[in-house]
Amino acid sequence: MINAPKGVEDILFPRASYYEEIEKKAGNFFSLYGYKKIMVPTFEKTELFLRSVGQETDVGKQMYTFKDKGGRSISLRPEGTAGIVRAYVEHKIYAKEKNWKVYYAGPMFRYERPQAGRLREFYQIGVECFGEESPWLDVEIIEMAHDFLKGMGLDNIQVQVNSIGCKKCRYKYIEELKVYLGKYLDVLCSTCRRRFRYNPLRILDCKSATCRAVLEKAPRIQDFTCSSCQEHFDKVTGGLCRLKIAHTINPYLVRGLDYYTRTIFEIISSYLGSQDAVCAGGRYDNLVEQLGGPPTPATGFAIGVERLLFSLEKAGVDLSKPAPQGVFMATIGEKSVEEAIQVASIIRSQGIAVKINLTNKGLSSQLKQANRENFSWVLIIGEGEIRKGKFILKNMHSGMQQEIETEEFEVFSNFLKGDASS
Ligand SMILES: [Zn+2]
Ligand SMILES: [Zn+2]
Repeated sequence: MINAPKGVEDILFPRASYYEEIEKKAGNFFSLYGYKKIMVPTFEKTELFLRSVGQETDVGKQMYTFKDKGGRSISLRPEGTAGIVRAYVEHKIYAKEKNWKVYYAGPMFRYERPQAGRLREFYQIGVECFGEESPWLDVEIIEMAHDFLKGMGLDNIQVQVNSIGCKKCRYKYIEELKVYLGKYLDVLCSTCRRRFRYNPLRILDCKSATCRAVLEKAPRIQDFTCSSCQEHFDKVTGGLCRLKIAHTINPYLVRGLDYYTRTIFEIISSYLGSQDAVCAGGRYDNLVEQLGGPPTPATGFAIGVERLLFSLEKAGVDLSKPAPQGVFMATIGEKSVEEAIQVASIIRSQGIAVKINLTNKGLSSQLKQANRENFSWVLIIGEGEIRKGKFILKNMHSGMQQEIETEEFEVFSNFLKGDASS
């Protein structure tokens, strides 16, 4: 018998259908923000990753690299951004579109030390936006990731943000950090001793207790950020406050990749323990130029599908249930249909599917139909309700009923939007 190689897994039914479901929901949700799906190869020239991810970073060290039959050095992609940036530059998209907003989904490959929850082939869903340096884009992209995860049913998430500055201010900080850490080299763990030479920022992120102790008195990047980076970051955190997205500023937050600038963030799930980020990303304003394109600000994030699935299972979210199908409008009589059509357009404008009953069936058989067709909500629009200006909203899962007023439809639609994507 031949087993699967170490560190990879078969994804059987029904688990495979959960992957599909997550990608579908993510795609639907991201498209509300203007993102479109693209597909790029799972392997690239090794050189691409050496110039983006970096050879000496933890991720760079974990690449699957081999010579193909033509003698070219090829690597399986260890992450999604480099390939997307390569495509952006190769197709000269900067000359055609001011803002390019895309998402992707698929497997990534890293030669990880096998342990629970770490696979050598794992799935990510990511988004990238090119051509926009406004801090409001950072806010919007964090909101999008946050609301998507919440909508999936992940309630116990927390956003952590940090700014790692631009080329100029980060360089000064790294110098200072190295002066400080240089005094403690013999105390740092072996990984961090290597990082000290190639990727000192990454030491900030080390989980080892001795490294953490050393870091307590280490210089902080916030004391080195230049005024324009500081202003940018203040707008990001201010924007998150305005959107009421709970977040903490974590001065130790760094990313494992070399190319990040300014805003970086992680969304952590309390179900994940030490590998707690279910989503991570940030700004990478220099990468397009680094890969041969014109200077182009960019930002993005990736969600780890296995980690998301694991958290959802822990949170008791049942993905085997078919996805809710929007709103069924139960109508009684001609006037009621007339009203329903108007209300439906408000709800549909929020991207939610609506079906209106146009038959003479009684209410109970309409409810049965809604149930059979897997609608999650029924809105009952009887003539009495029209007179009162109040309609009855019934949740088909919980059976709960409530009255809502005509003026509340915008709010109601937003609420449904959250529910329809959960
Ligand atoms: Zn700066
Ligand atoms: Zn360490």
